[in-house]
Amino acid sequence: MIYDYIIVGAGMGGISAGLNLIKNKKKVLILEKNSLPGGLVSTFKKGRFEFDTSIYDLYNYGNSEYIGDVQTVLNKYGIDLDTTLIPLNINIKDAKNTSYIIDGDFEEFIVKLEEFKEGTITKLKEFLKIIKEIHEAVRALQKNESLSNYPHFQKYIDYTALDGLKDLGLDKEVINRLGIWYLDLGSPLNKLSFIDYALFMYKLIFKKDVIINKKNIGFSLDLVNYYQKNGGKIYYNSYVTDIIEDDGFKVVKTKDNLEYKGRVVICDLAKRYVFKELIKTPNKMVNRLENARSLSPNGVVVYLGLNRSREEIGLNNYKYYHFKNMDSVTNVSYMNDLYHDTWIGYVPNVVNEEASPKNTTILVLKRIYFSDVFDDKNGDINKLKENLANDLVTKFEEAYNIDIREYIEEIEVVTPFRLEKITNSVNGSMFGYSLKGYDNSINRLLAYKDEKIPNLEFVGAYSVFGPGIDNAFYSGYFVTEKLLNNKGD
Ligand SMILES: Cc1cc2nc3c(=O)[nH]c(=O)nc-3n(C[C@H](O)[C@H](O)[C@H](O)COP(=O)(O)OP(=O)(O)OC[C@H]3O[C@@H](n4cnc5c(N)ncnc54)[C@H](O)[C@@H]3O)c2cc1C
Repeated sequence: MIYDYIIVGAGMGGISAGLNLIKNKKKVLILEKNSLPGGLVSTFKKGRFEFDTSIYDLYNYGNSEYIGDVQTVLNKYGIDLDTTLIPLNINIKDAKNTSYIIDGDFEEFIVKLEEFKEGTITKLKEFLKIIKEIHEAVRALQKNESLSNYPHFQKYIDYTALDGLKDLGLDKEVINRLGIWYLDLGSPLNKLSFIDYALFMYKLIFKKDVIINKKNIGFSLDLVNYYQKNGGKIYYNSYVTDIIEDDGFKVVKTKDNLEYKGRVVICDLAKRYVFKELIKTPNKMVNRLENARSLSPNGVVVYLGLNRSREEIGLNNYKYYHFKNMDSVTNVSYMNDLYHDTWIGYVPNVVNEEASPKNTTILVLKRIYFSDVFDDKNGDINKLKENLANDLVTKFEEAYNIDIREYIEEIEVVTPFRLEKITNSVNGSMFGYSLKGYDNSINRLLAYKDEKIPNLEFVGAYSVFGPGIDNAFYSGYFVTEKLLNNKGD
């Protein structure tokens, strides 16, 4: 059997690509090394707790007023999703004396910023107009339409986020408050392009943020069931080891010595991994092939199952953002230290009462790293995990004055080694390649055609649009549309 498309990896990008191809009546096979789909969008059990690996925010899904890309694509595939719109509910502190809560809509946040610095609302109204225009310009670019009607896009294309916000006349402290979302992804405002920042803020402000009313794994399985019902094939426990050329076809080999033949291979994987491990490209060529991209940070995630209700414990906010300091530019420089003081907490029970059994709470603590602080694979990893978890719990308790330790019933610590094992992300990188400097989503879009190896495509967080479930999912649609319309080569 010769498949039209073989997809390696059943993460959000791979599944979405499969869904679009099946809808267009193609013969498609997905090969997944794990025994379940979803990649990072998965769930694991510990005692009576079911922890979701990711999806604490689904951006770009939207609501009835602003339909986001994810919803648009799901509608095209014929899939309905049960979601709940969630407010911005973040308790923000830094190690000095900044402390405030964003609660409600972005509009309310803007009012608070005005209280903080008079004149901010007028400048932010201008900002909102600009980000709308940039969103429309990028849509036009994706359709190869003219950009002459988008002067702000043209003006800001070479600006960093920091320079763009300064150009609007915003106060430094206000800029710091507007920069909190990207710190977690490892792109400080002076490295991030203004266009990528504007696109993210457009999603956040207009399309809002939702959660899916299902566990991660339930969502991933629903998508795959739909794919299979419509004729798509998926083989689990199929660890791809080689992709080779054979007489104009691609042959994909797995660890258990099986071979599959297809016309096109789509990888839901890091380019660096595919070139090095699956195509066995000489090392010196790898950088050129992946356009010398830089990997996003890796990190540690501590999943805690607590044996009291969140009300009893006093966990009232969905998110807790704690920074060493509020300035994204200097903050990044502290992130080489294993025990640094910038970290994030999520309490899924605040937006979903059924996130854990009655009278229990889940708290997820996450800290990212910019260097190879985890290099020592031979050290005592269990001791390290224990120390990291202890440190994060202590820091959380001290910063927010909330007791956690005495309520811990279950604990799981996920290190970069483990993340690498789950998804084959390089060095356990959490968010694909960083959107940074000239490697921004616009240049990726413009370079899309030049990056090609014939009949080898990439989807997912390591491909065109950057990190996140929404980007990974949309990339699967975008790339396969190009292929189906024969614009990919
Ligand atoms: C802790 C954490 C929390 C996050 N929270 C959010 C969030 O709230 N919101 C959000 O938008 N994003 C979040 N993200 C990011 C988001 O989860 C990812 O960007 C997205 O899920 C990536 O999807 P993907 O398709 O690129 O690939 P992946 O999920 O990496 O999937 C790749 C798939 O390929 C398979 N594979 C790898 N190698 C092989 C091989 N050789 N053969 C066969 N199969 C292979 C893997 O098993 C995996 O199933 C989070 C990430 C982390 C780590």
